[in-house]
Amino acid sequence: MRKNFLVFGSPLIEQSEIDEVVASLKSGWLGTGPKVHKFEEMFKEYRSSRFAVALNSCTAALHLSMLAIGIKPGDEVVVPTMTFTSTANAVIHAGGRPVFVDCEKDTMNIDPEDVERRITSKTKAIVPVHFAGRACNMNAIMDIAKKYNLKVIEDCAHAIETEYHGKKAGTFGELGCFSFYVTKNIVTGEGGMVITDNEDYANQIKILGLHGMSKDAWKRFSDSGYKHYHVVYAGFKYNMMDLQAAIGIHQLPRVEKYWRRRQEIWNRYKEAFKNLLVFTPASVEHETRHACHLYTLLLDIDNLKITRDEFLDRMTKQNIGVGVHYIALHLQPYYQKVFGYKVGDFPNAEFISDRTVSLPLSPKLIHEDVDDVIDAVKRILE
Ligand SMILES: *Cc1c(COP(=O)(O)O)cnc(C)c1O
Repeated sequence: MRKNFLVFGSPLIEQSEIDEVVASLKSGWLGTGPKVHKFEEMFKEYRSSRFAVALNSCTAALHLSMLAIGIKPGDEVVVPTMTFTSTANAVIHAGGRPVFVDCEKDTMNIDPEDVERRITSKTKAIVPVHFAGRACNMNAIMDIAKKYNLKVIEDCAHAIETEYHGKKAGTFGELGCFSFYVTKNIVTGEGGMVITDNEDYANQIKILGLHGMSKDAWKRFSDSGYKHYHVVYAGFKYNMMDLQAAIGIHQLPRVEKYWRRRQEIWNRYKEAFKNLLVFTPASVEHETRHACHLYTLLLDIDNLKITRDEFLDRMTKQNIGVGVHYIALHLQPYYQKVFGYKVGDFPNAEFISDRTVSLPLSPKLIHEDVDDVIDAVKRILE
């Protein structure tokens, strides 16, 4: 058995990030400044979008995107139940109501047929989440959006590298939201980004993210002299700091290298687990690029002698960190209490919620770490 604990989702931090953060500290410019601007420029180029606004999280990006498209009390927004809670919380923060949709059992992505079934006269938007980095069926989703005149906000927290039929994830809808949280494909500690081709949305988000103060208010203490600002909204404190961007500007150039490394690990897992009582992730669809953010095994608990939670305990006892992505939102107490969701509402998401386990998939893993994960899984399941 492994001697030290293998942390789930541990980021790979290299010397240039460390040097850049130290340089920021020495310069005294810690807050939003030139490094944030540089990171935005790099990111919009990487994703081929006209505008990019850096924020302090993807949750902030989702919230401000909801406000930018005008979500207000009484509006409904269609969200997969198989996602992280902030996808739906963002709708609530804007005053709207999240309407859950089931996922496809094999891809774990939002089911377009179920999306269409849940549209009402109050529906204003759809939030596809590219689950684990696998592109949603964007042809079907954009067709539905067009047919019912709905806006689309893509949750790309798993999907920095994802493409669908030659087009980059985050550029299908009005807005695309990204995360640089510590476990994500590239990291800034906490951090997020919104991309859009719509200048009005970009300006509005920039202002809303910094107290509602007029554009470029962060320059007010710069060497060009003090500038007055105007408060044009009651905004939020969602800006990214230069200390965070200092990490991001060195992580982003390695995004493809890290992606290739995760693919190698993914393929080793796929090969290693093919004869176990598990369902491995669906194979990658043609003409798409899978970001390989999560490697999720579904335990065949109907034929195994252990439950998923027992499996998690035994992995932890073997010093392997594991994750669960996710227990569906309609099974969470808040959403049951406030919106009346209950067990049985979304059978595919429940099937996954009961069986899913995420294994370590970080570019930081060395060959022996991957061996340790494989050995532990086999020891428990064989
Ligand atoms: C991580 C995550 C978020 C939130 O990202 P933060 O940057 O932590 O706010 C949103 N949606 C999904 C699907 C995520 O995995």
